Parts: sequence; C-alpha cells; structure tokens
Amino acid sequence: MSWKQWFLKTGFGERSLVLFLLLAYPLLGMLWHHEYPIFSIEVFVLFGCFGLLAGLVATLLQPCRWLVVNFLLVTVLTLVLLIHSNFLLIGILTVFASSLVLSLLLREKFPLILMVVMAALITGAFFDNRIDRARNAPQLETTPVLARQGPLIHIVVDGFIGPDGLPQSAESQNLRSEMLDFFAAHDFQVHTRAYTHYNNTTDSLTRAFNFRNDDENIFQSIVMLREAISIPENAWFQALSDHGYPIIVYQTEAVNFCDSSAVDYCKVFAIPNLKTIHTGVANIATRTTVLLRTLLGQSVIISELLQNSLSIGNWGVSTYDKRLLSTLTQDVQLRPDGAYFAHILIPHSPLVYRQDCSLDYDSESWLRFTATTGLIGNSVETRARRYARFVPHAQCALRELGNLFRVLQEQGLYQQATILVHGDHGTSAFNYSPVVENMENLRYRDLREMYSALYAVKLPGGTAGLNHQTASLNVLLAQTLTEITGKSKQQLGISVTTEEEPFIYLSGVSPLAQMYVDIFTRNSEESNTEE
Ligand SMILES: [Zn+2]
Repeated sequence: MSWKQWFLKTGFGERSLVLFLLLAYPLLGMLWHHEYPIFSIEVFVLFGCFGLLAGLVATLLQPCRWLVVNFLLVTVLTLVLLIHSNFLLIGILTVFASSLVLSLLLREKFPLILMVVMAALITGAFFDNRIDRARNAPQLETTPVLARQGPLIHIVVDGFIGPDGLPQSAESQNLRSEMLDFFAAHDFQVHTRAYTHYNNTTDSLTRAFNFRNDDENIFQSIVMLREAISIPENAWFQALSDHGYPIIVYQTEAVNFCDSSAVDYCKVFAIPNLKTIHTGVANIATRTTVLLRTLLGQSVIISELLQNSLSIGNWGVSTYDKRLLSTLTQDVQLRPDGAYFAHILIPHSPLVYRQDCSLDYDSESWLRFTATTGLIGNSVETRARRYARFVPHAQCALRELGNLFRVLQEQGLYQQATILVHGDHGTSAFNYSPVVENMENLRYRDLREMYSALYAVKLPGGTAGLNHQTASLNVLLAQTLTEITGKSKQQLGISVTTEEEPFIYLSGVSPLAQMYVDIFTRNSEESNTEE
C-alpha cells in the first residue's frame, strides 16, 4: 500500500499527533504566559524534538493494540498534568485512574477524543493567557491635576542590603559610597543600620507592613505546591488609603500584595523573566535547555523528583522585569496623586545584570546565586566571587531607580513626591546560614548579610541626611507613616512595641531562637579576617 494508505490505516498520524499535542500543551502554555517569542529557533528546536519523539513512539506502537496505546496516552497525560498544574499527587492519581477507565470504555475512540480535548485545551490556554496578561489592568485613568498631594512612591528592592551591612572589601565599600551618594543626590534620609528581624521575604514584609515583630507562625512559609505567597493584611496600605491615596500596586507573581482590601489597582508581572533568555543568551542549545528545564521546573513534583539528578530550576533565569518600573513611571505621570507600590526582585538573585543593566548570562550558573542552600552557604572564597557579581547587579538596581527619579524630576513631580525605598533582608551571601543549628558558627558578618536592609526615605521638600541608629523595618515604617500622615502612632492605631534592644530570629529545625544582638556590631577578630 502507498504511504498515504499506511498512514491512515495504521493510525500513525492520529497517534503521533495526539502525543505531540500532549507534549506541546504545557510548553505553549508556559511560552504564552511569559510572552516568550514563539517564532524563535529554540522553540522550533523543542517542538521538533517533541515531534520526533511523538513520531518515534507512534512507530513503536504500530503493532500494539488500542489498550496499550491508550495506556501510554493516559501516562503521558498524567505527566502533562504533573508539569502544568498544582495538583497533589493524590489528585494526579485520581485523574490517571479515571482516564484509564475512560480509555477502556471508549476503546479506539479514546485517542481521537483526547486529540480534540488537547486541541481545545491549547486554544483555551492561548485565550487564558490573554486573560492572564489582562491581569495588567486597563490603562490607569487620568485625574485632573489639582492633586492636593504629590505622588507617594514606595519601592521594595528585594534583597538590598543596607550600607552599614556591607563588607569591608574595596568593591563593597565602593557600592556603599555609591548608594550614599545616590540617595544624598536625591534628597533622601538614609538609615544606614536598618534591619529586619526575619530572614525571609514573607515574614519580613508581612511584619513590617503590619508594624509587628512577633514570632507567631514565622518560618512557616515554605511554599508547597506553588501556592502564591500573599500578604492580605496590610495596615500600611490601609493607613495610606485612609489618608486619601488610591493604592496602586506593581508586583511579580512571587508575592501577592493585591489581596489587601485597600488596593485599588494592581498589575502583575510574570516570573521568571524568561524573555531575558531569548535576548541575553547567544547559544541556541543553552536557550533550548533552559526552556525545557524551566518547563519541568514548573512542576513541584517533577522538580522534587529530579532535584538531585538535574538540579532543575537552579539555572538562574532573571526574576527582574524592567517593565515593572517603567510602567510605574508612565502611570505616575497619569495619576500624580496616587500611592504607588512596587516590589522588584533586584538586587535579589539570580545575579544577571551588569552595572549598566545589560544582561550577563555568561557566568557559571552557581555564581548567579548569593549562597548555596544548606547549612554552609559559602566559603570565604565563593562569597567573594559571588559578591563580585552582586555589586554590579545592585548598581543596576540603583540605575533603575535613577531612571524613575529622573522622569519625576523632568515632569516637575519630584519635589512634592514622597519616596520610600527599602529592602526586606540582606544579600543572603552568608558563609553560615542563619539557623539555630549554626548557632556556634554564626558570625556578625553572616548576620549582616542576612538581616541588614536598605531604608531610604524622601519626604516632600525633604533634605538629604544620614541616620546611623540601628532600627528595624517595622519601627521605621511606623515612623515614616507618622511623618506622611502627620498623625501619632496612637491615632494611627499602631501598637508597635518599642524595641529597646535590637533582636533577630533564627530559623531552623530546632525551636527557633530569638537572639538579642545588634548585627552591626563588629568584633575585632572578624574585622581582620572575614571583612
Ligand atoms: Zn526577599
């Protein structure tokens, strides 16, 4: 018989097509979600591989009866679900069992029906991701400029260590001077010894925005099954809203601030910033591999299973999207009376930006992270090498802020603007990780790398200055709120405890420890060696 007859009669076309659709579905969903260019060589390579694989499997299945074919399809379908959903294993097994029953009932009709379902899902994913993109809400409405107040701009620069938390090395001290000069030139008050009591983003920001310093349920935020981290209670937003500001939020998918009832308007940006792979990596093989790894890494279960062999997800795709701040910059001009909040994942790792904010994916991937996970994050040598990447990356963050400030100045909005820029924790470039198990080894250097945070604030008509007192983020935010609103802490209902002594919490397997320590104390022994 001719190949056409063979093709139709053996069901080769149908079998390979349905397998291909099964493989293509999660990849397409991911690409659309990240607005990755579909018509690029690396995507063609991946689809080519999927096509070959589907054809090969379909050929091998030629002599098999529909029962075997159906069983394979159901298995692939289960794998697809593993990649593309947050289902628990039990849920996946349920789907597997019911699909198997369905395949027995439908017999040779099953592949055909599956093909139609997959095609429908792909179409759905296309439109769904259109909706996804529409999370970027419609254009902000312009208000007539009779604004009784200037804009309030509040930017959390994730992982930006404070000036006095930086090590003594020449490059770090250079960054310190650059930070101080930058904020002085823009009329900021810089608290050089600001710090957080907590060593992760969620605990740090949840407490800071609610003016708290307790240890209730802290370090419980290990995210299972990609459940988004959310900060629904936000006393800071509420107070600003009560003061008359519309609250406008720009966030990534990493932490959700928009669950707060005070938020009026919300824009969300996808992470990781997958498109930077397309623009920043020259090697097609690397691009293809990174896409595949990111795809597999989307599944909690698959990345758990493959963690030891492949270290999936640790390649280090950027989590900072320049559009986040550039959109905010445009919007402030439309509505100069709003309170704009942005959470940006820079200078947070992966460390992929050069000082001039061009992409640098040439490094070995471990250098893109400030520490290795585990009890020991760095040796003295690896910490130095990673810092050499952190410093230009942090300089890029300053550059991005500078672009925003320049536009505000050009628009004549800078003088009257209230601007708050702060971090949530340090670089995390510690040698010993801040856990109870490391109590004996921990040095002040490690604590500064973890708990020191940038805090800089500019009030309307404010003047530059430095404050060298050790103070926690929640106390500083409460202080700033009284300055913005002109109300006392009592009037604002802030019951933040007066913190007479600085302290931090250590996490770990053992019961967590509260350590009364001023992390900015430098002991003589360290200053000669580690610093
Ligand atoms: Zn963070």
